[in-house]
Amino acid sequence: MDSQEFKYYREKLNKTQKQMAELLAVSLKAVCSYEQGSRSVPVHVERQIFFLVSRLALKNKRKKICWDAMKCSKEFKQKCPAWEFQVGDLCWFINGTICKGEAQKNWREKMKICRHCEVFEYLL
Ligand code: SF4
Repeated sequence: MDSQEFKYYREKLNKTQKQMAELLAVSLKAVCSYEQGSRSVPVHVERQIFFLVSRLALKNKRKKICWDAMKCSKEFKQKCPAWEFQVGDLCWFINGTICKGEAQKNWREKMKICRHCEVFEYLL
């Protein structure tokens, strides 16, 4: 997540910088640095932001469940942690899902896929 995206999502959450700092459990200085681009947004902060934005987005929408949207077979589902932990609308939040046939090695690699997936796009 870059600085412009961070600011975009803060505004989408309708938070001041101070409120955002409290919500993310980081300092106000950190929030200012993320927005100025002088500090990169850490993975755990990015995950929290997407989580919060996704919950807000569901206020007026039905949940989209990933294994239904992706039409996963029973065999495929049984290998996937999204199914194991029943997080079909939060599949992007956990690592180890096998949407492209194998688990991605880290969050950033995973999010390169999720950012272009209808399940994730639906929530933002
Ligand atoms: S690519 Fe990401 S958002 Fe799409 S189904 Fe897989 S984990 Fe979920």
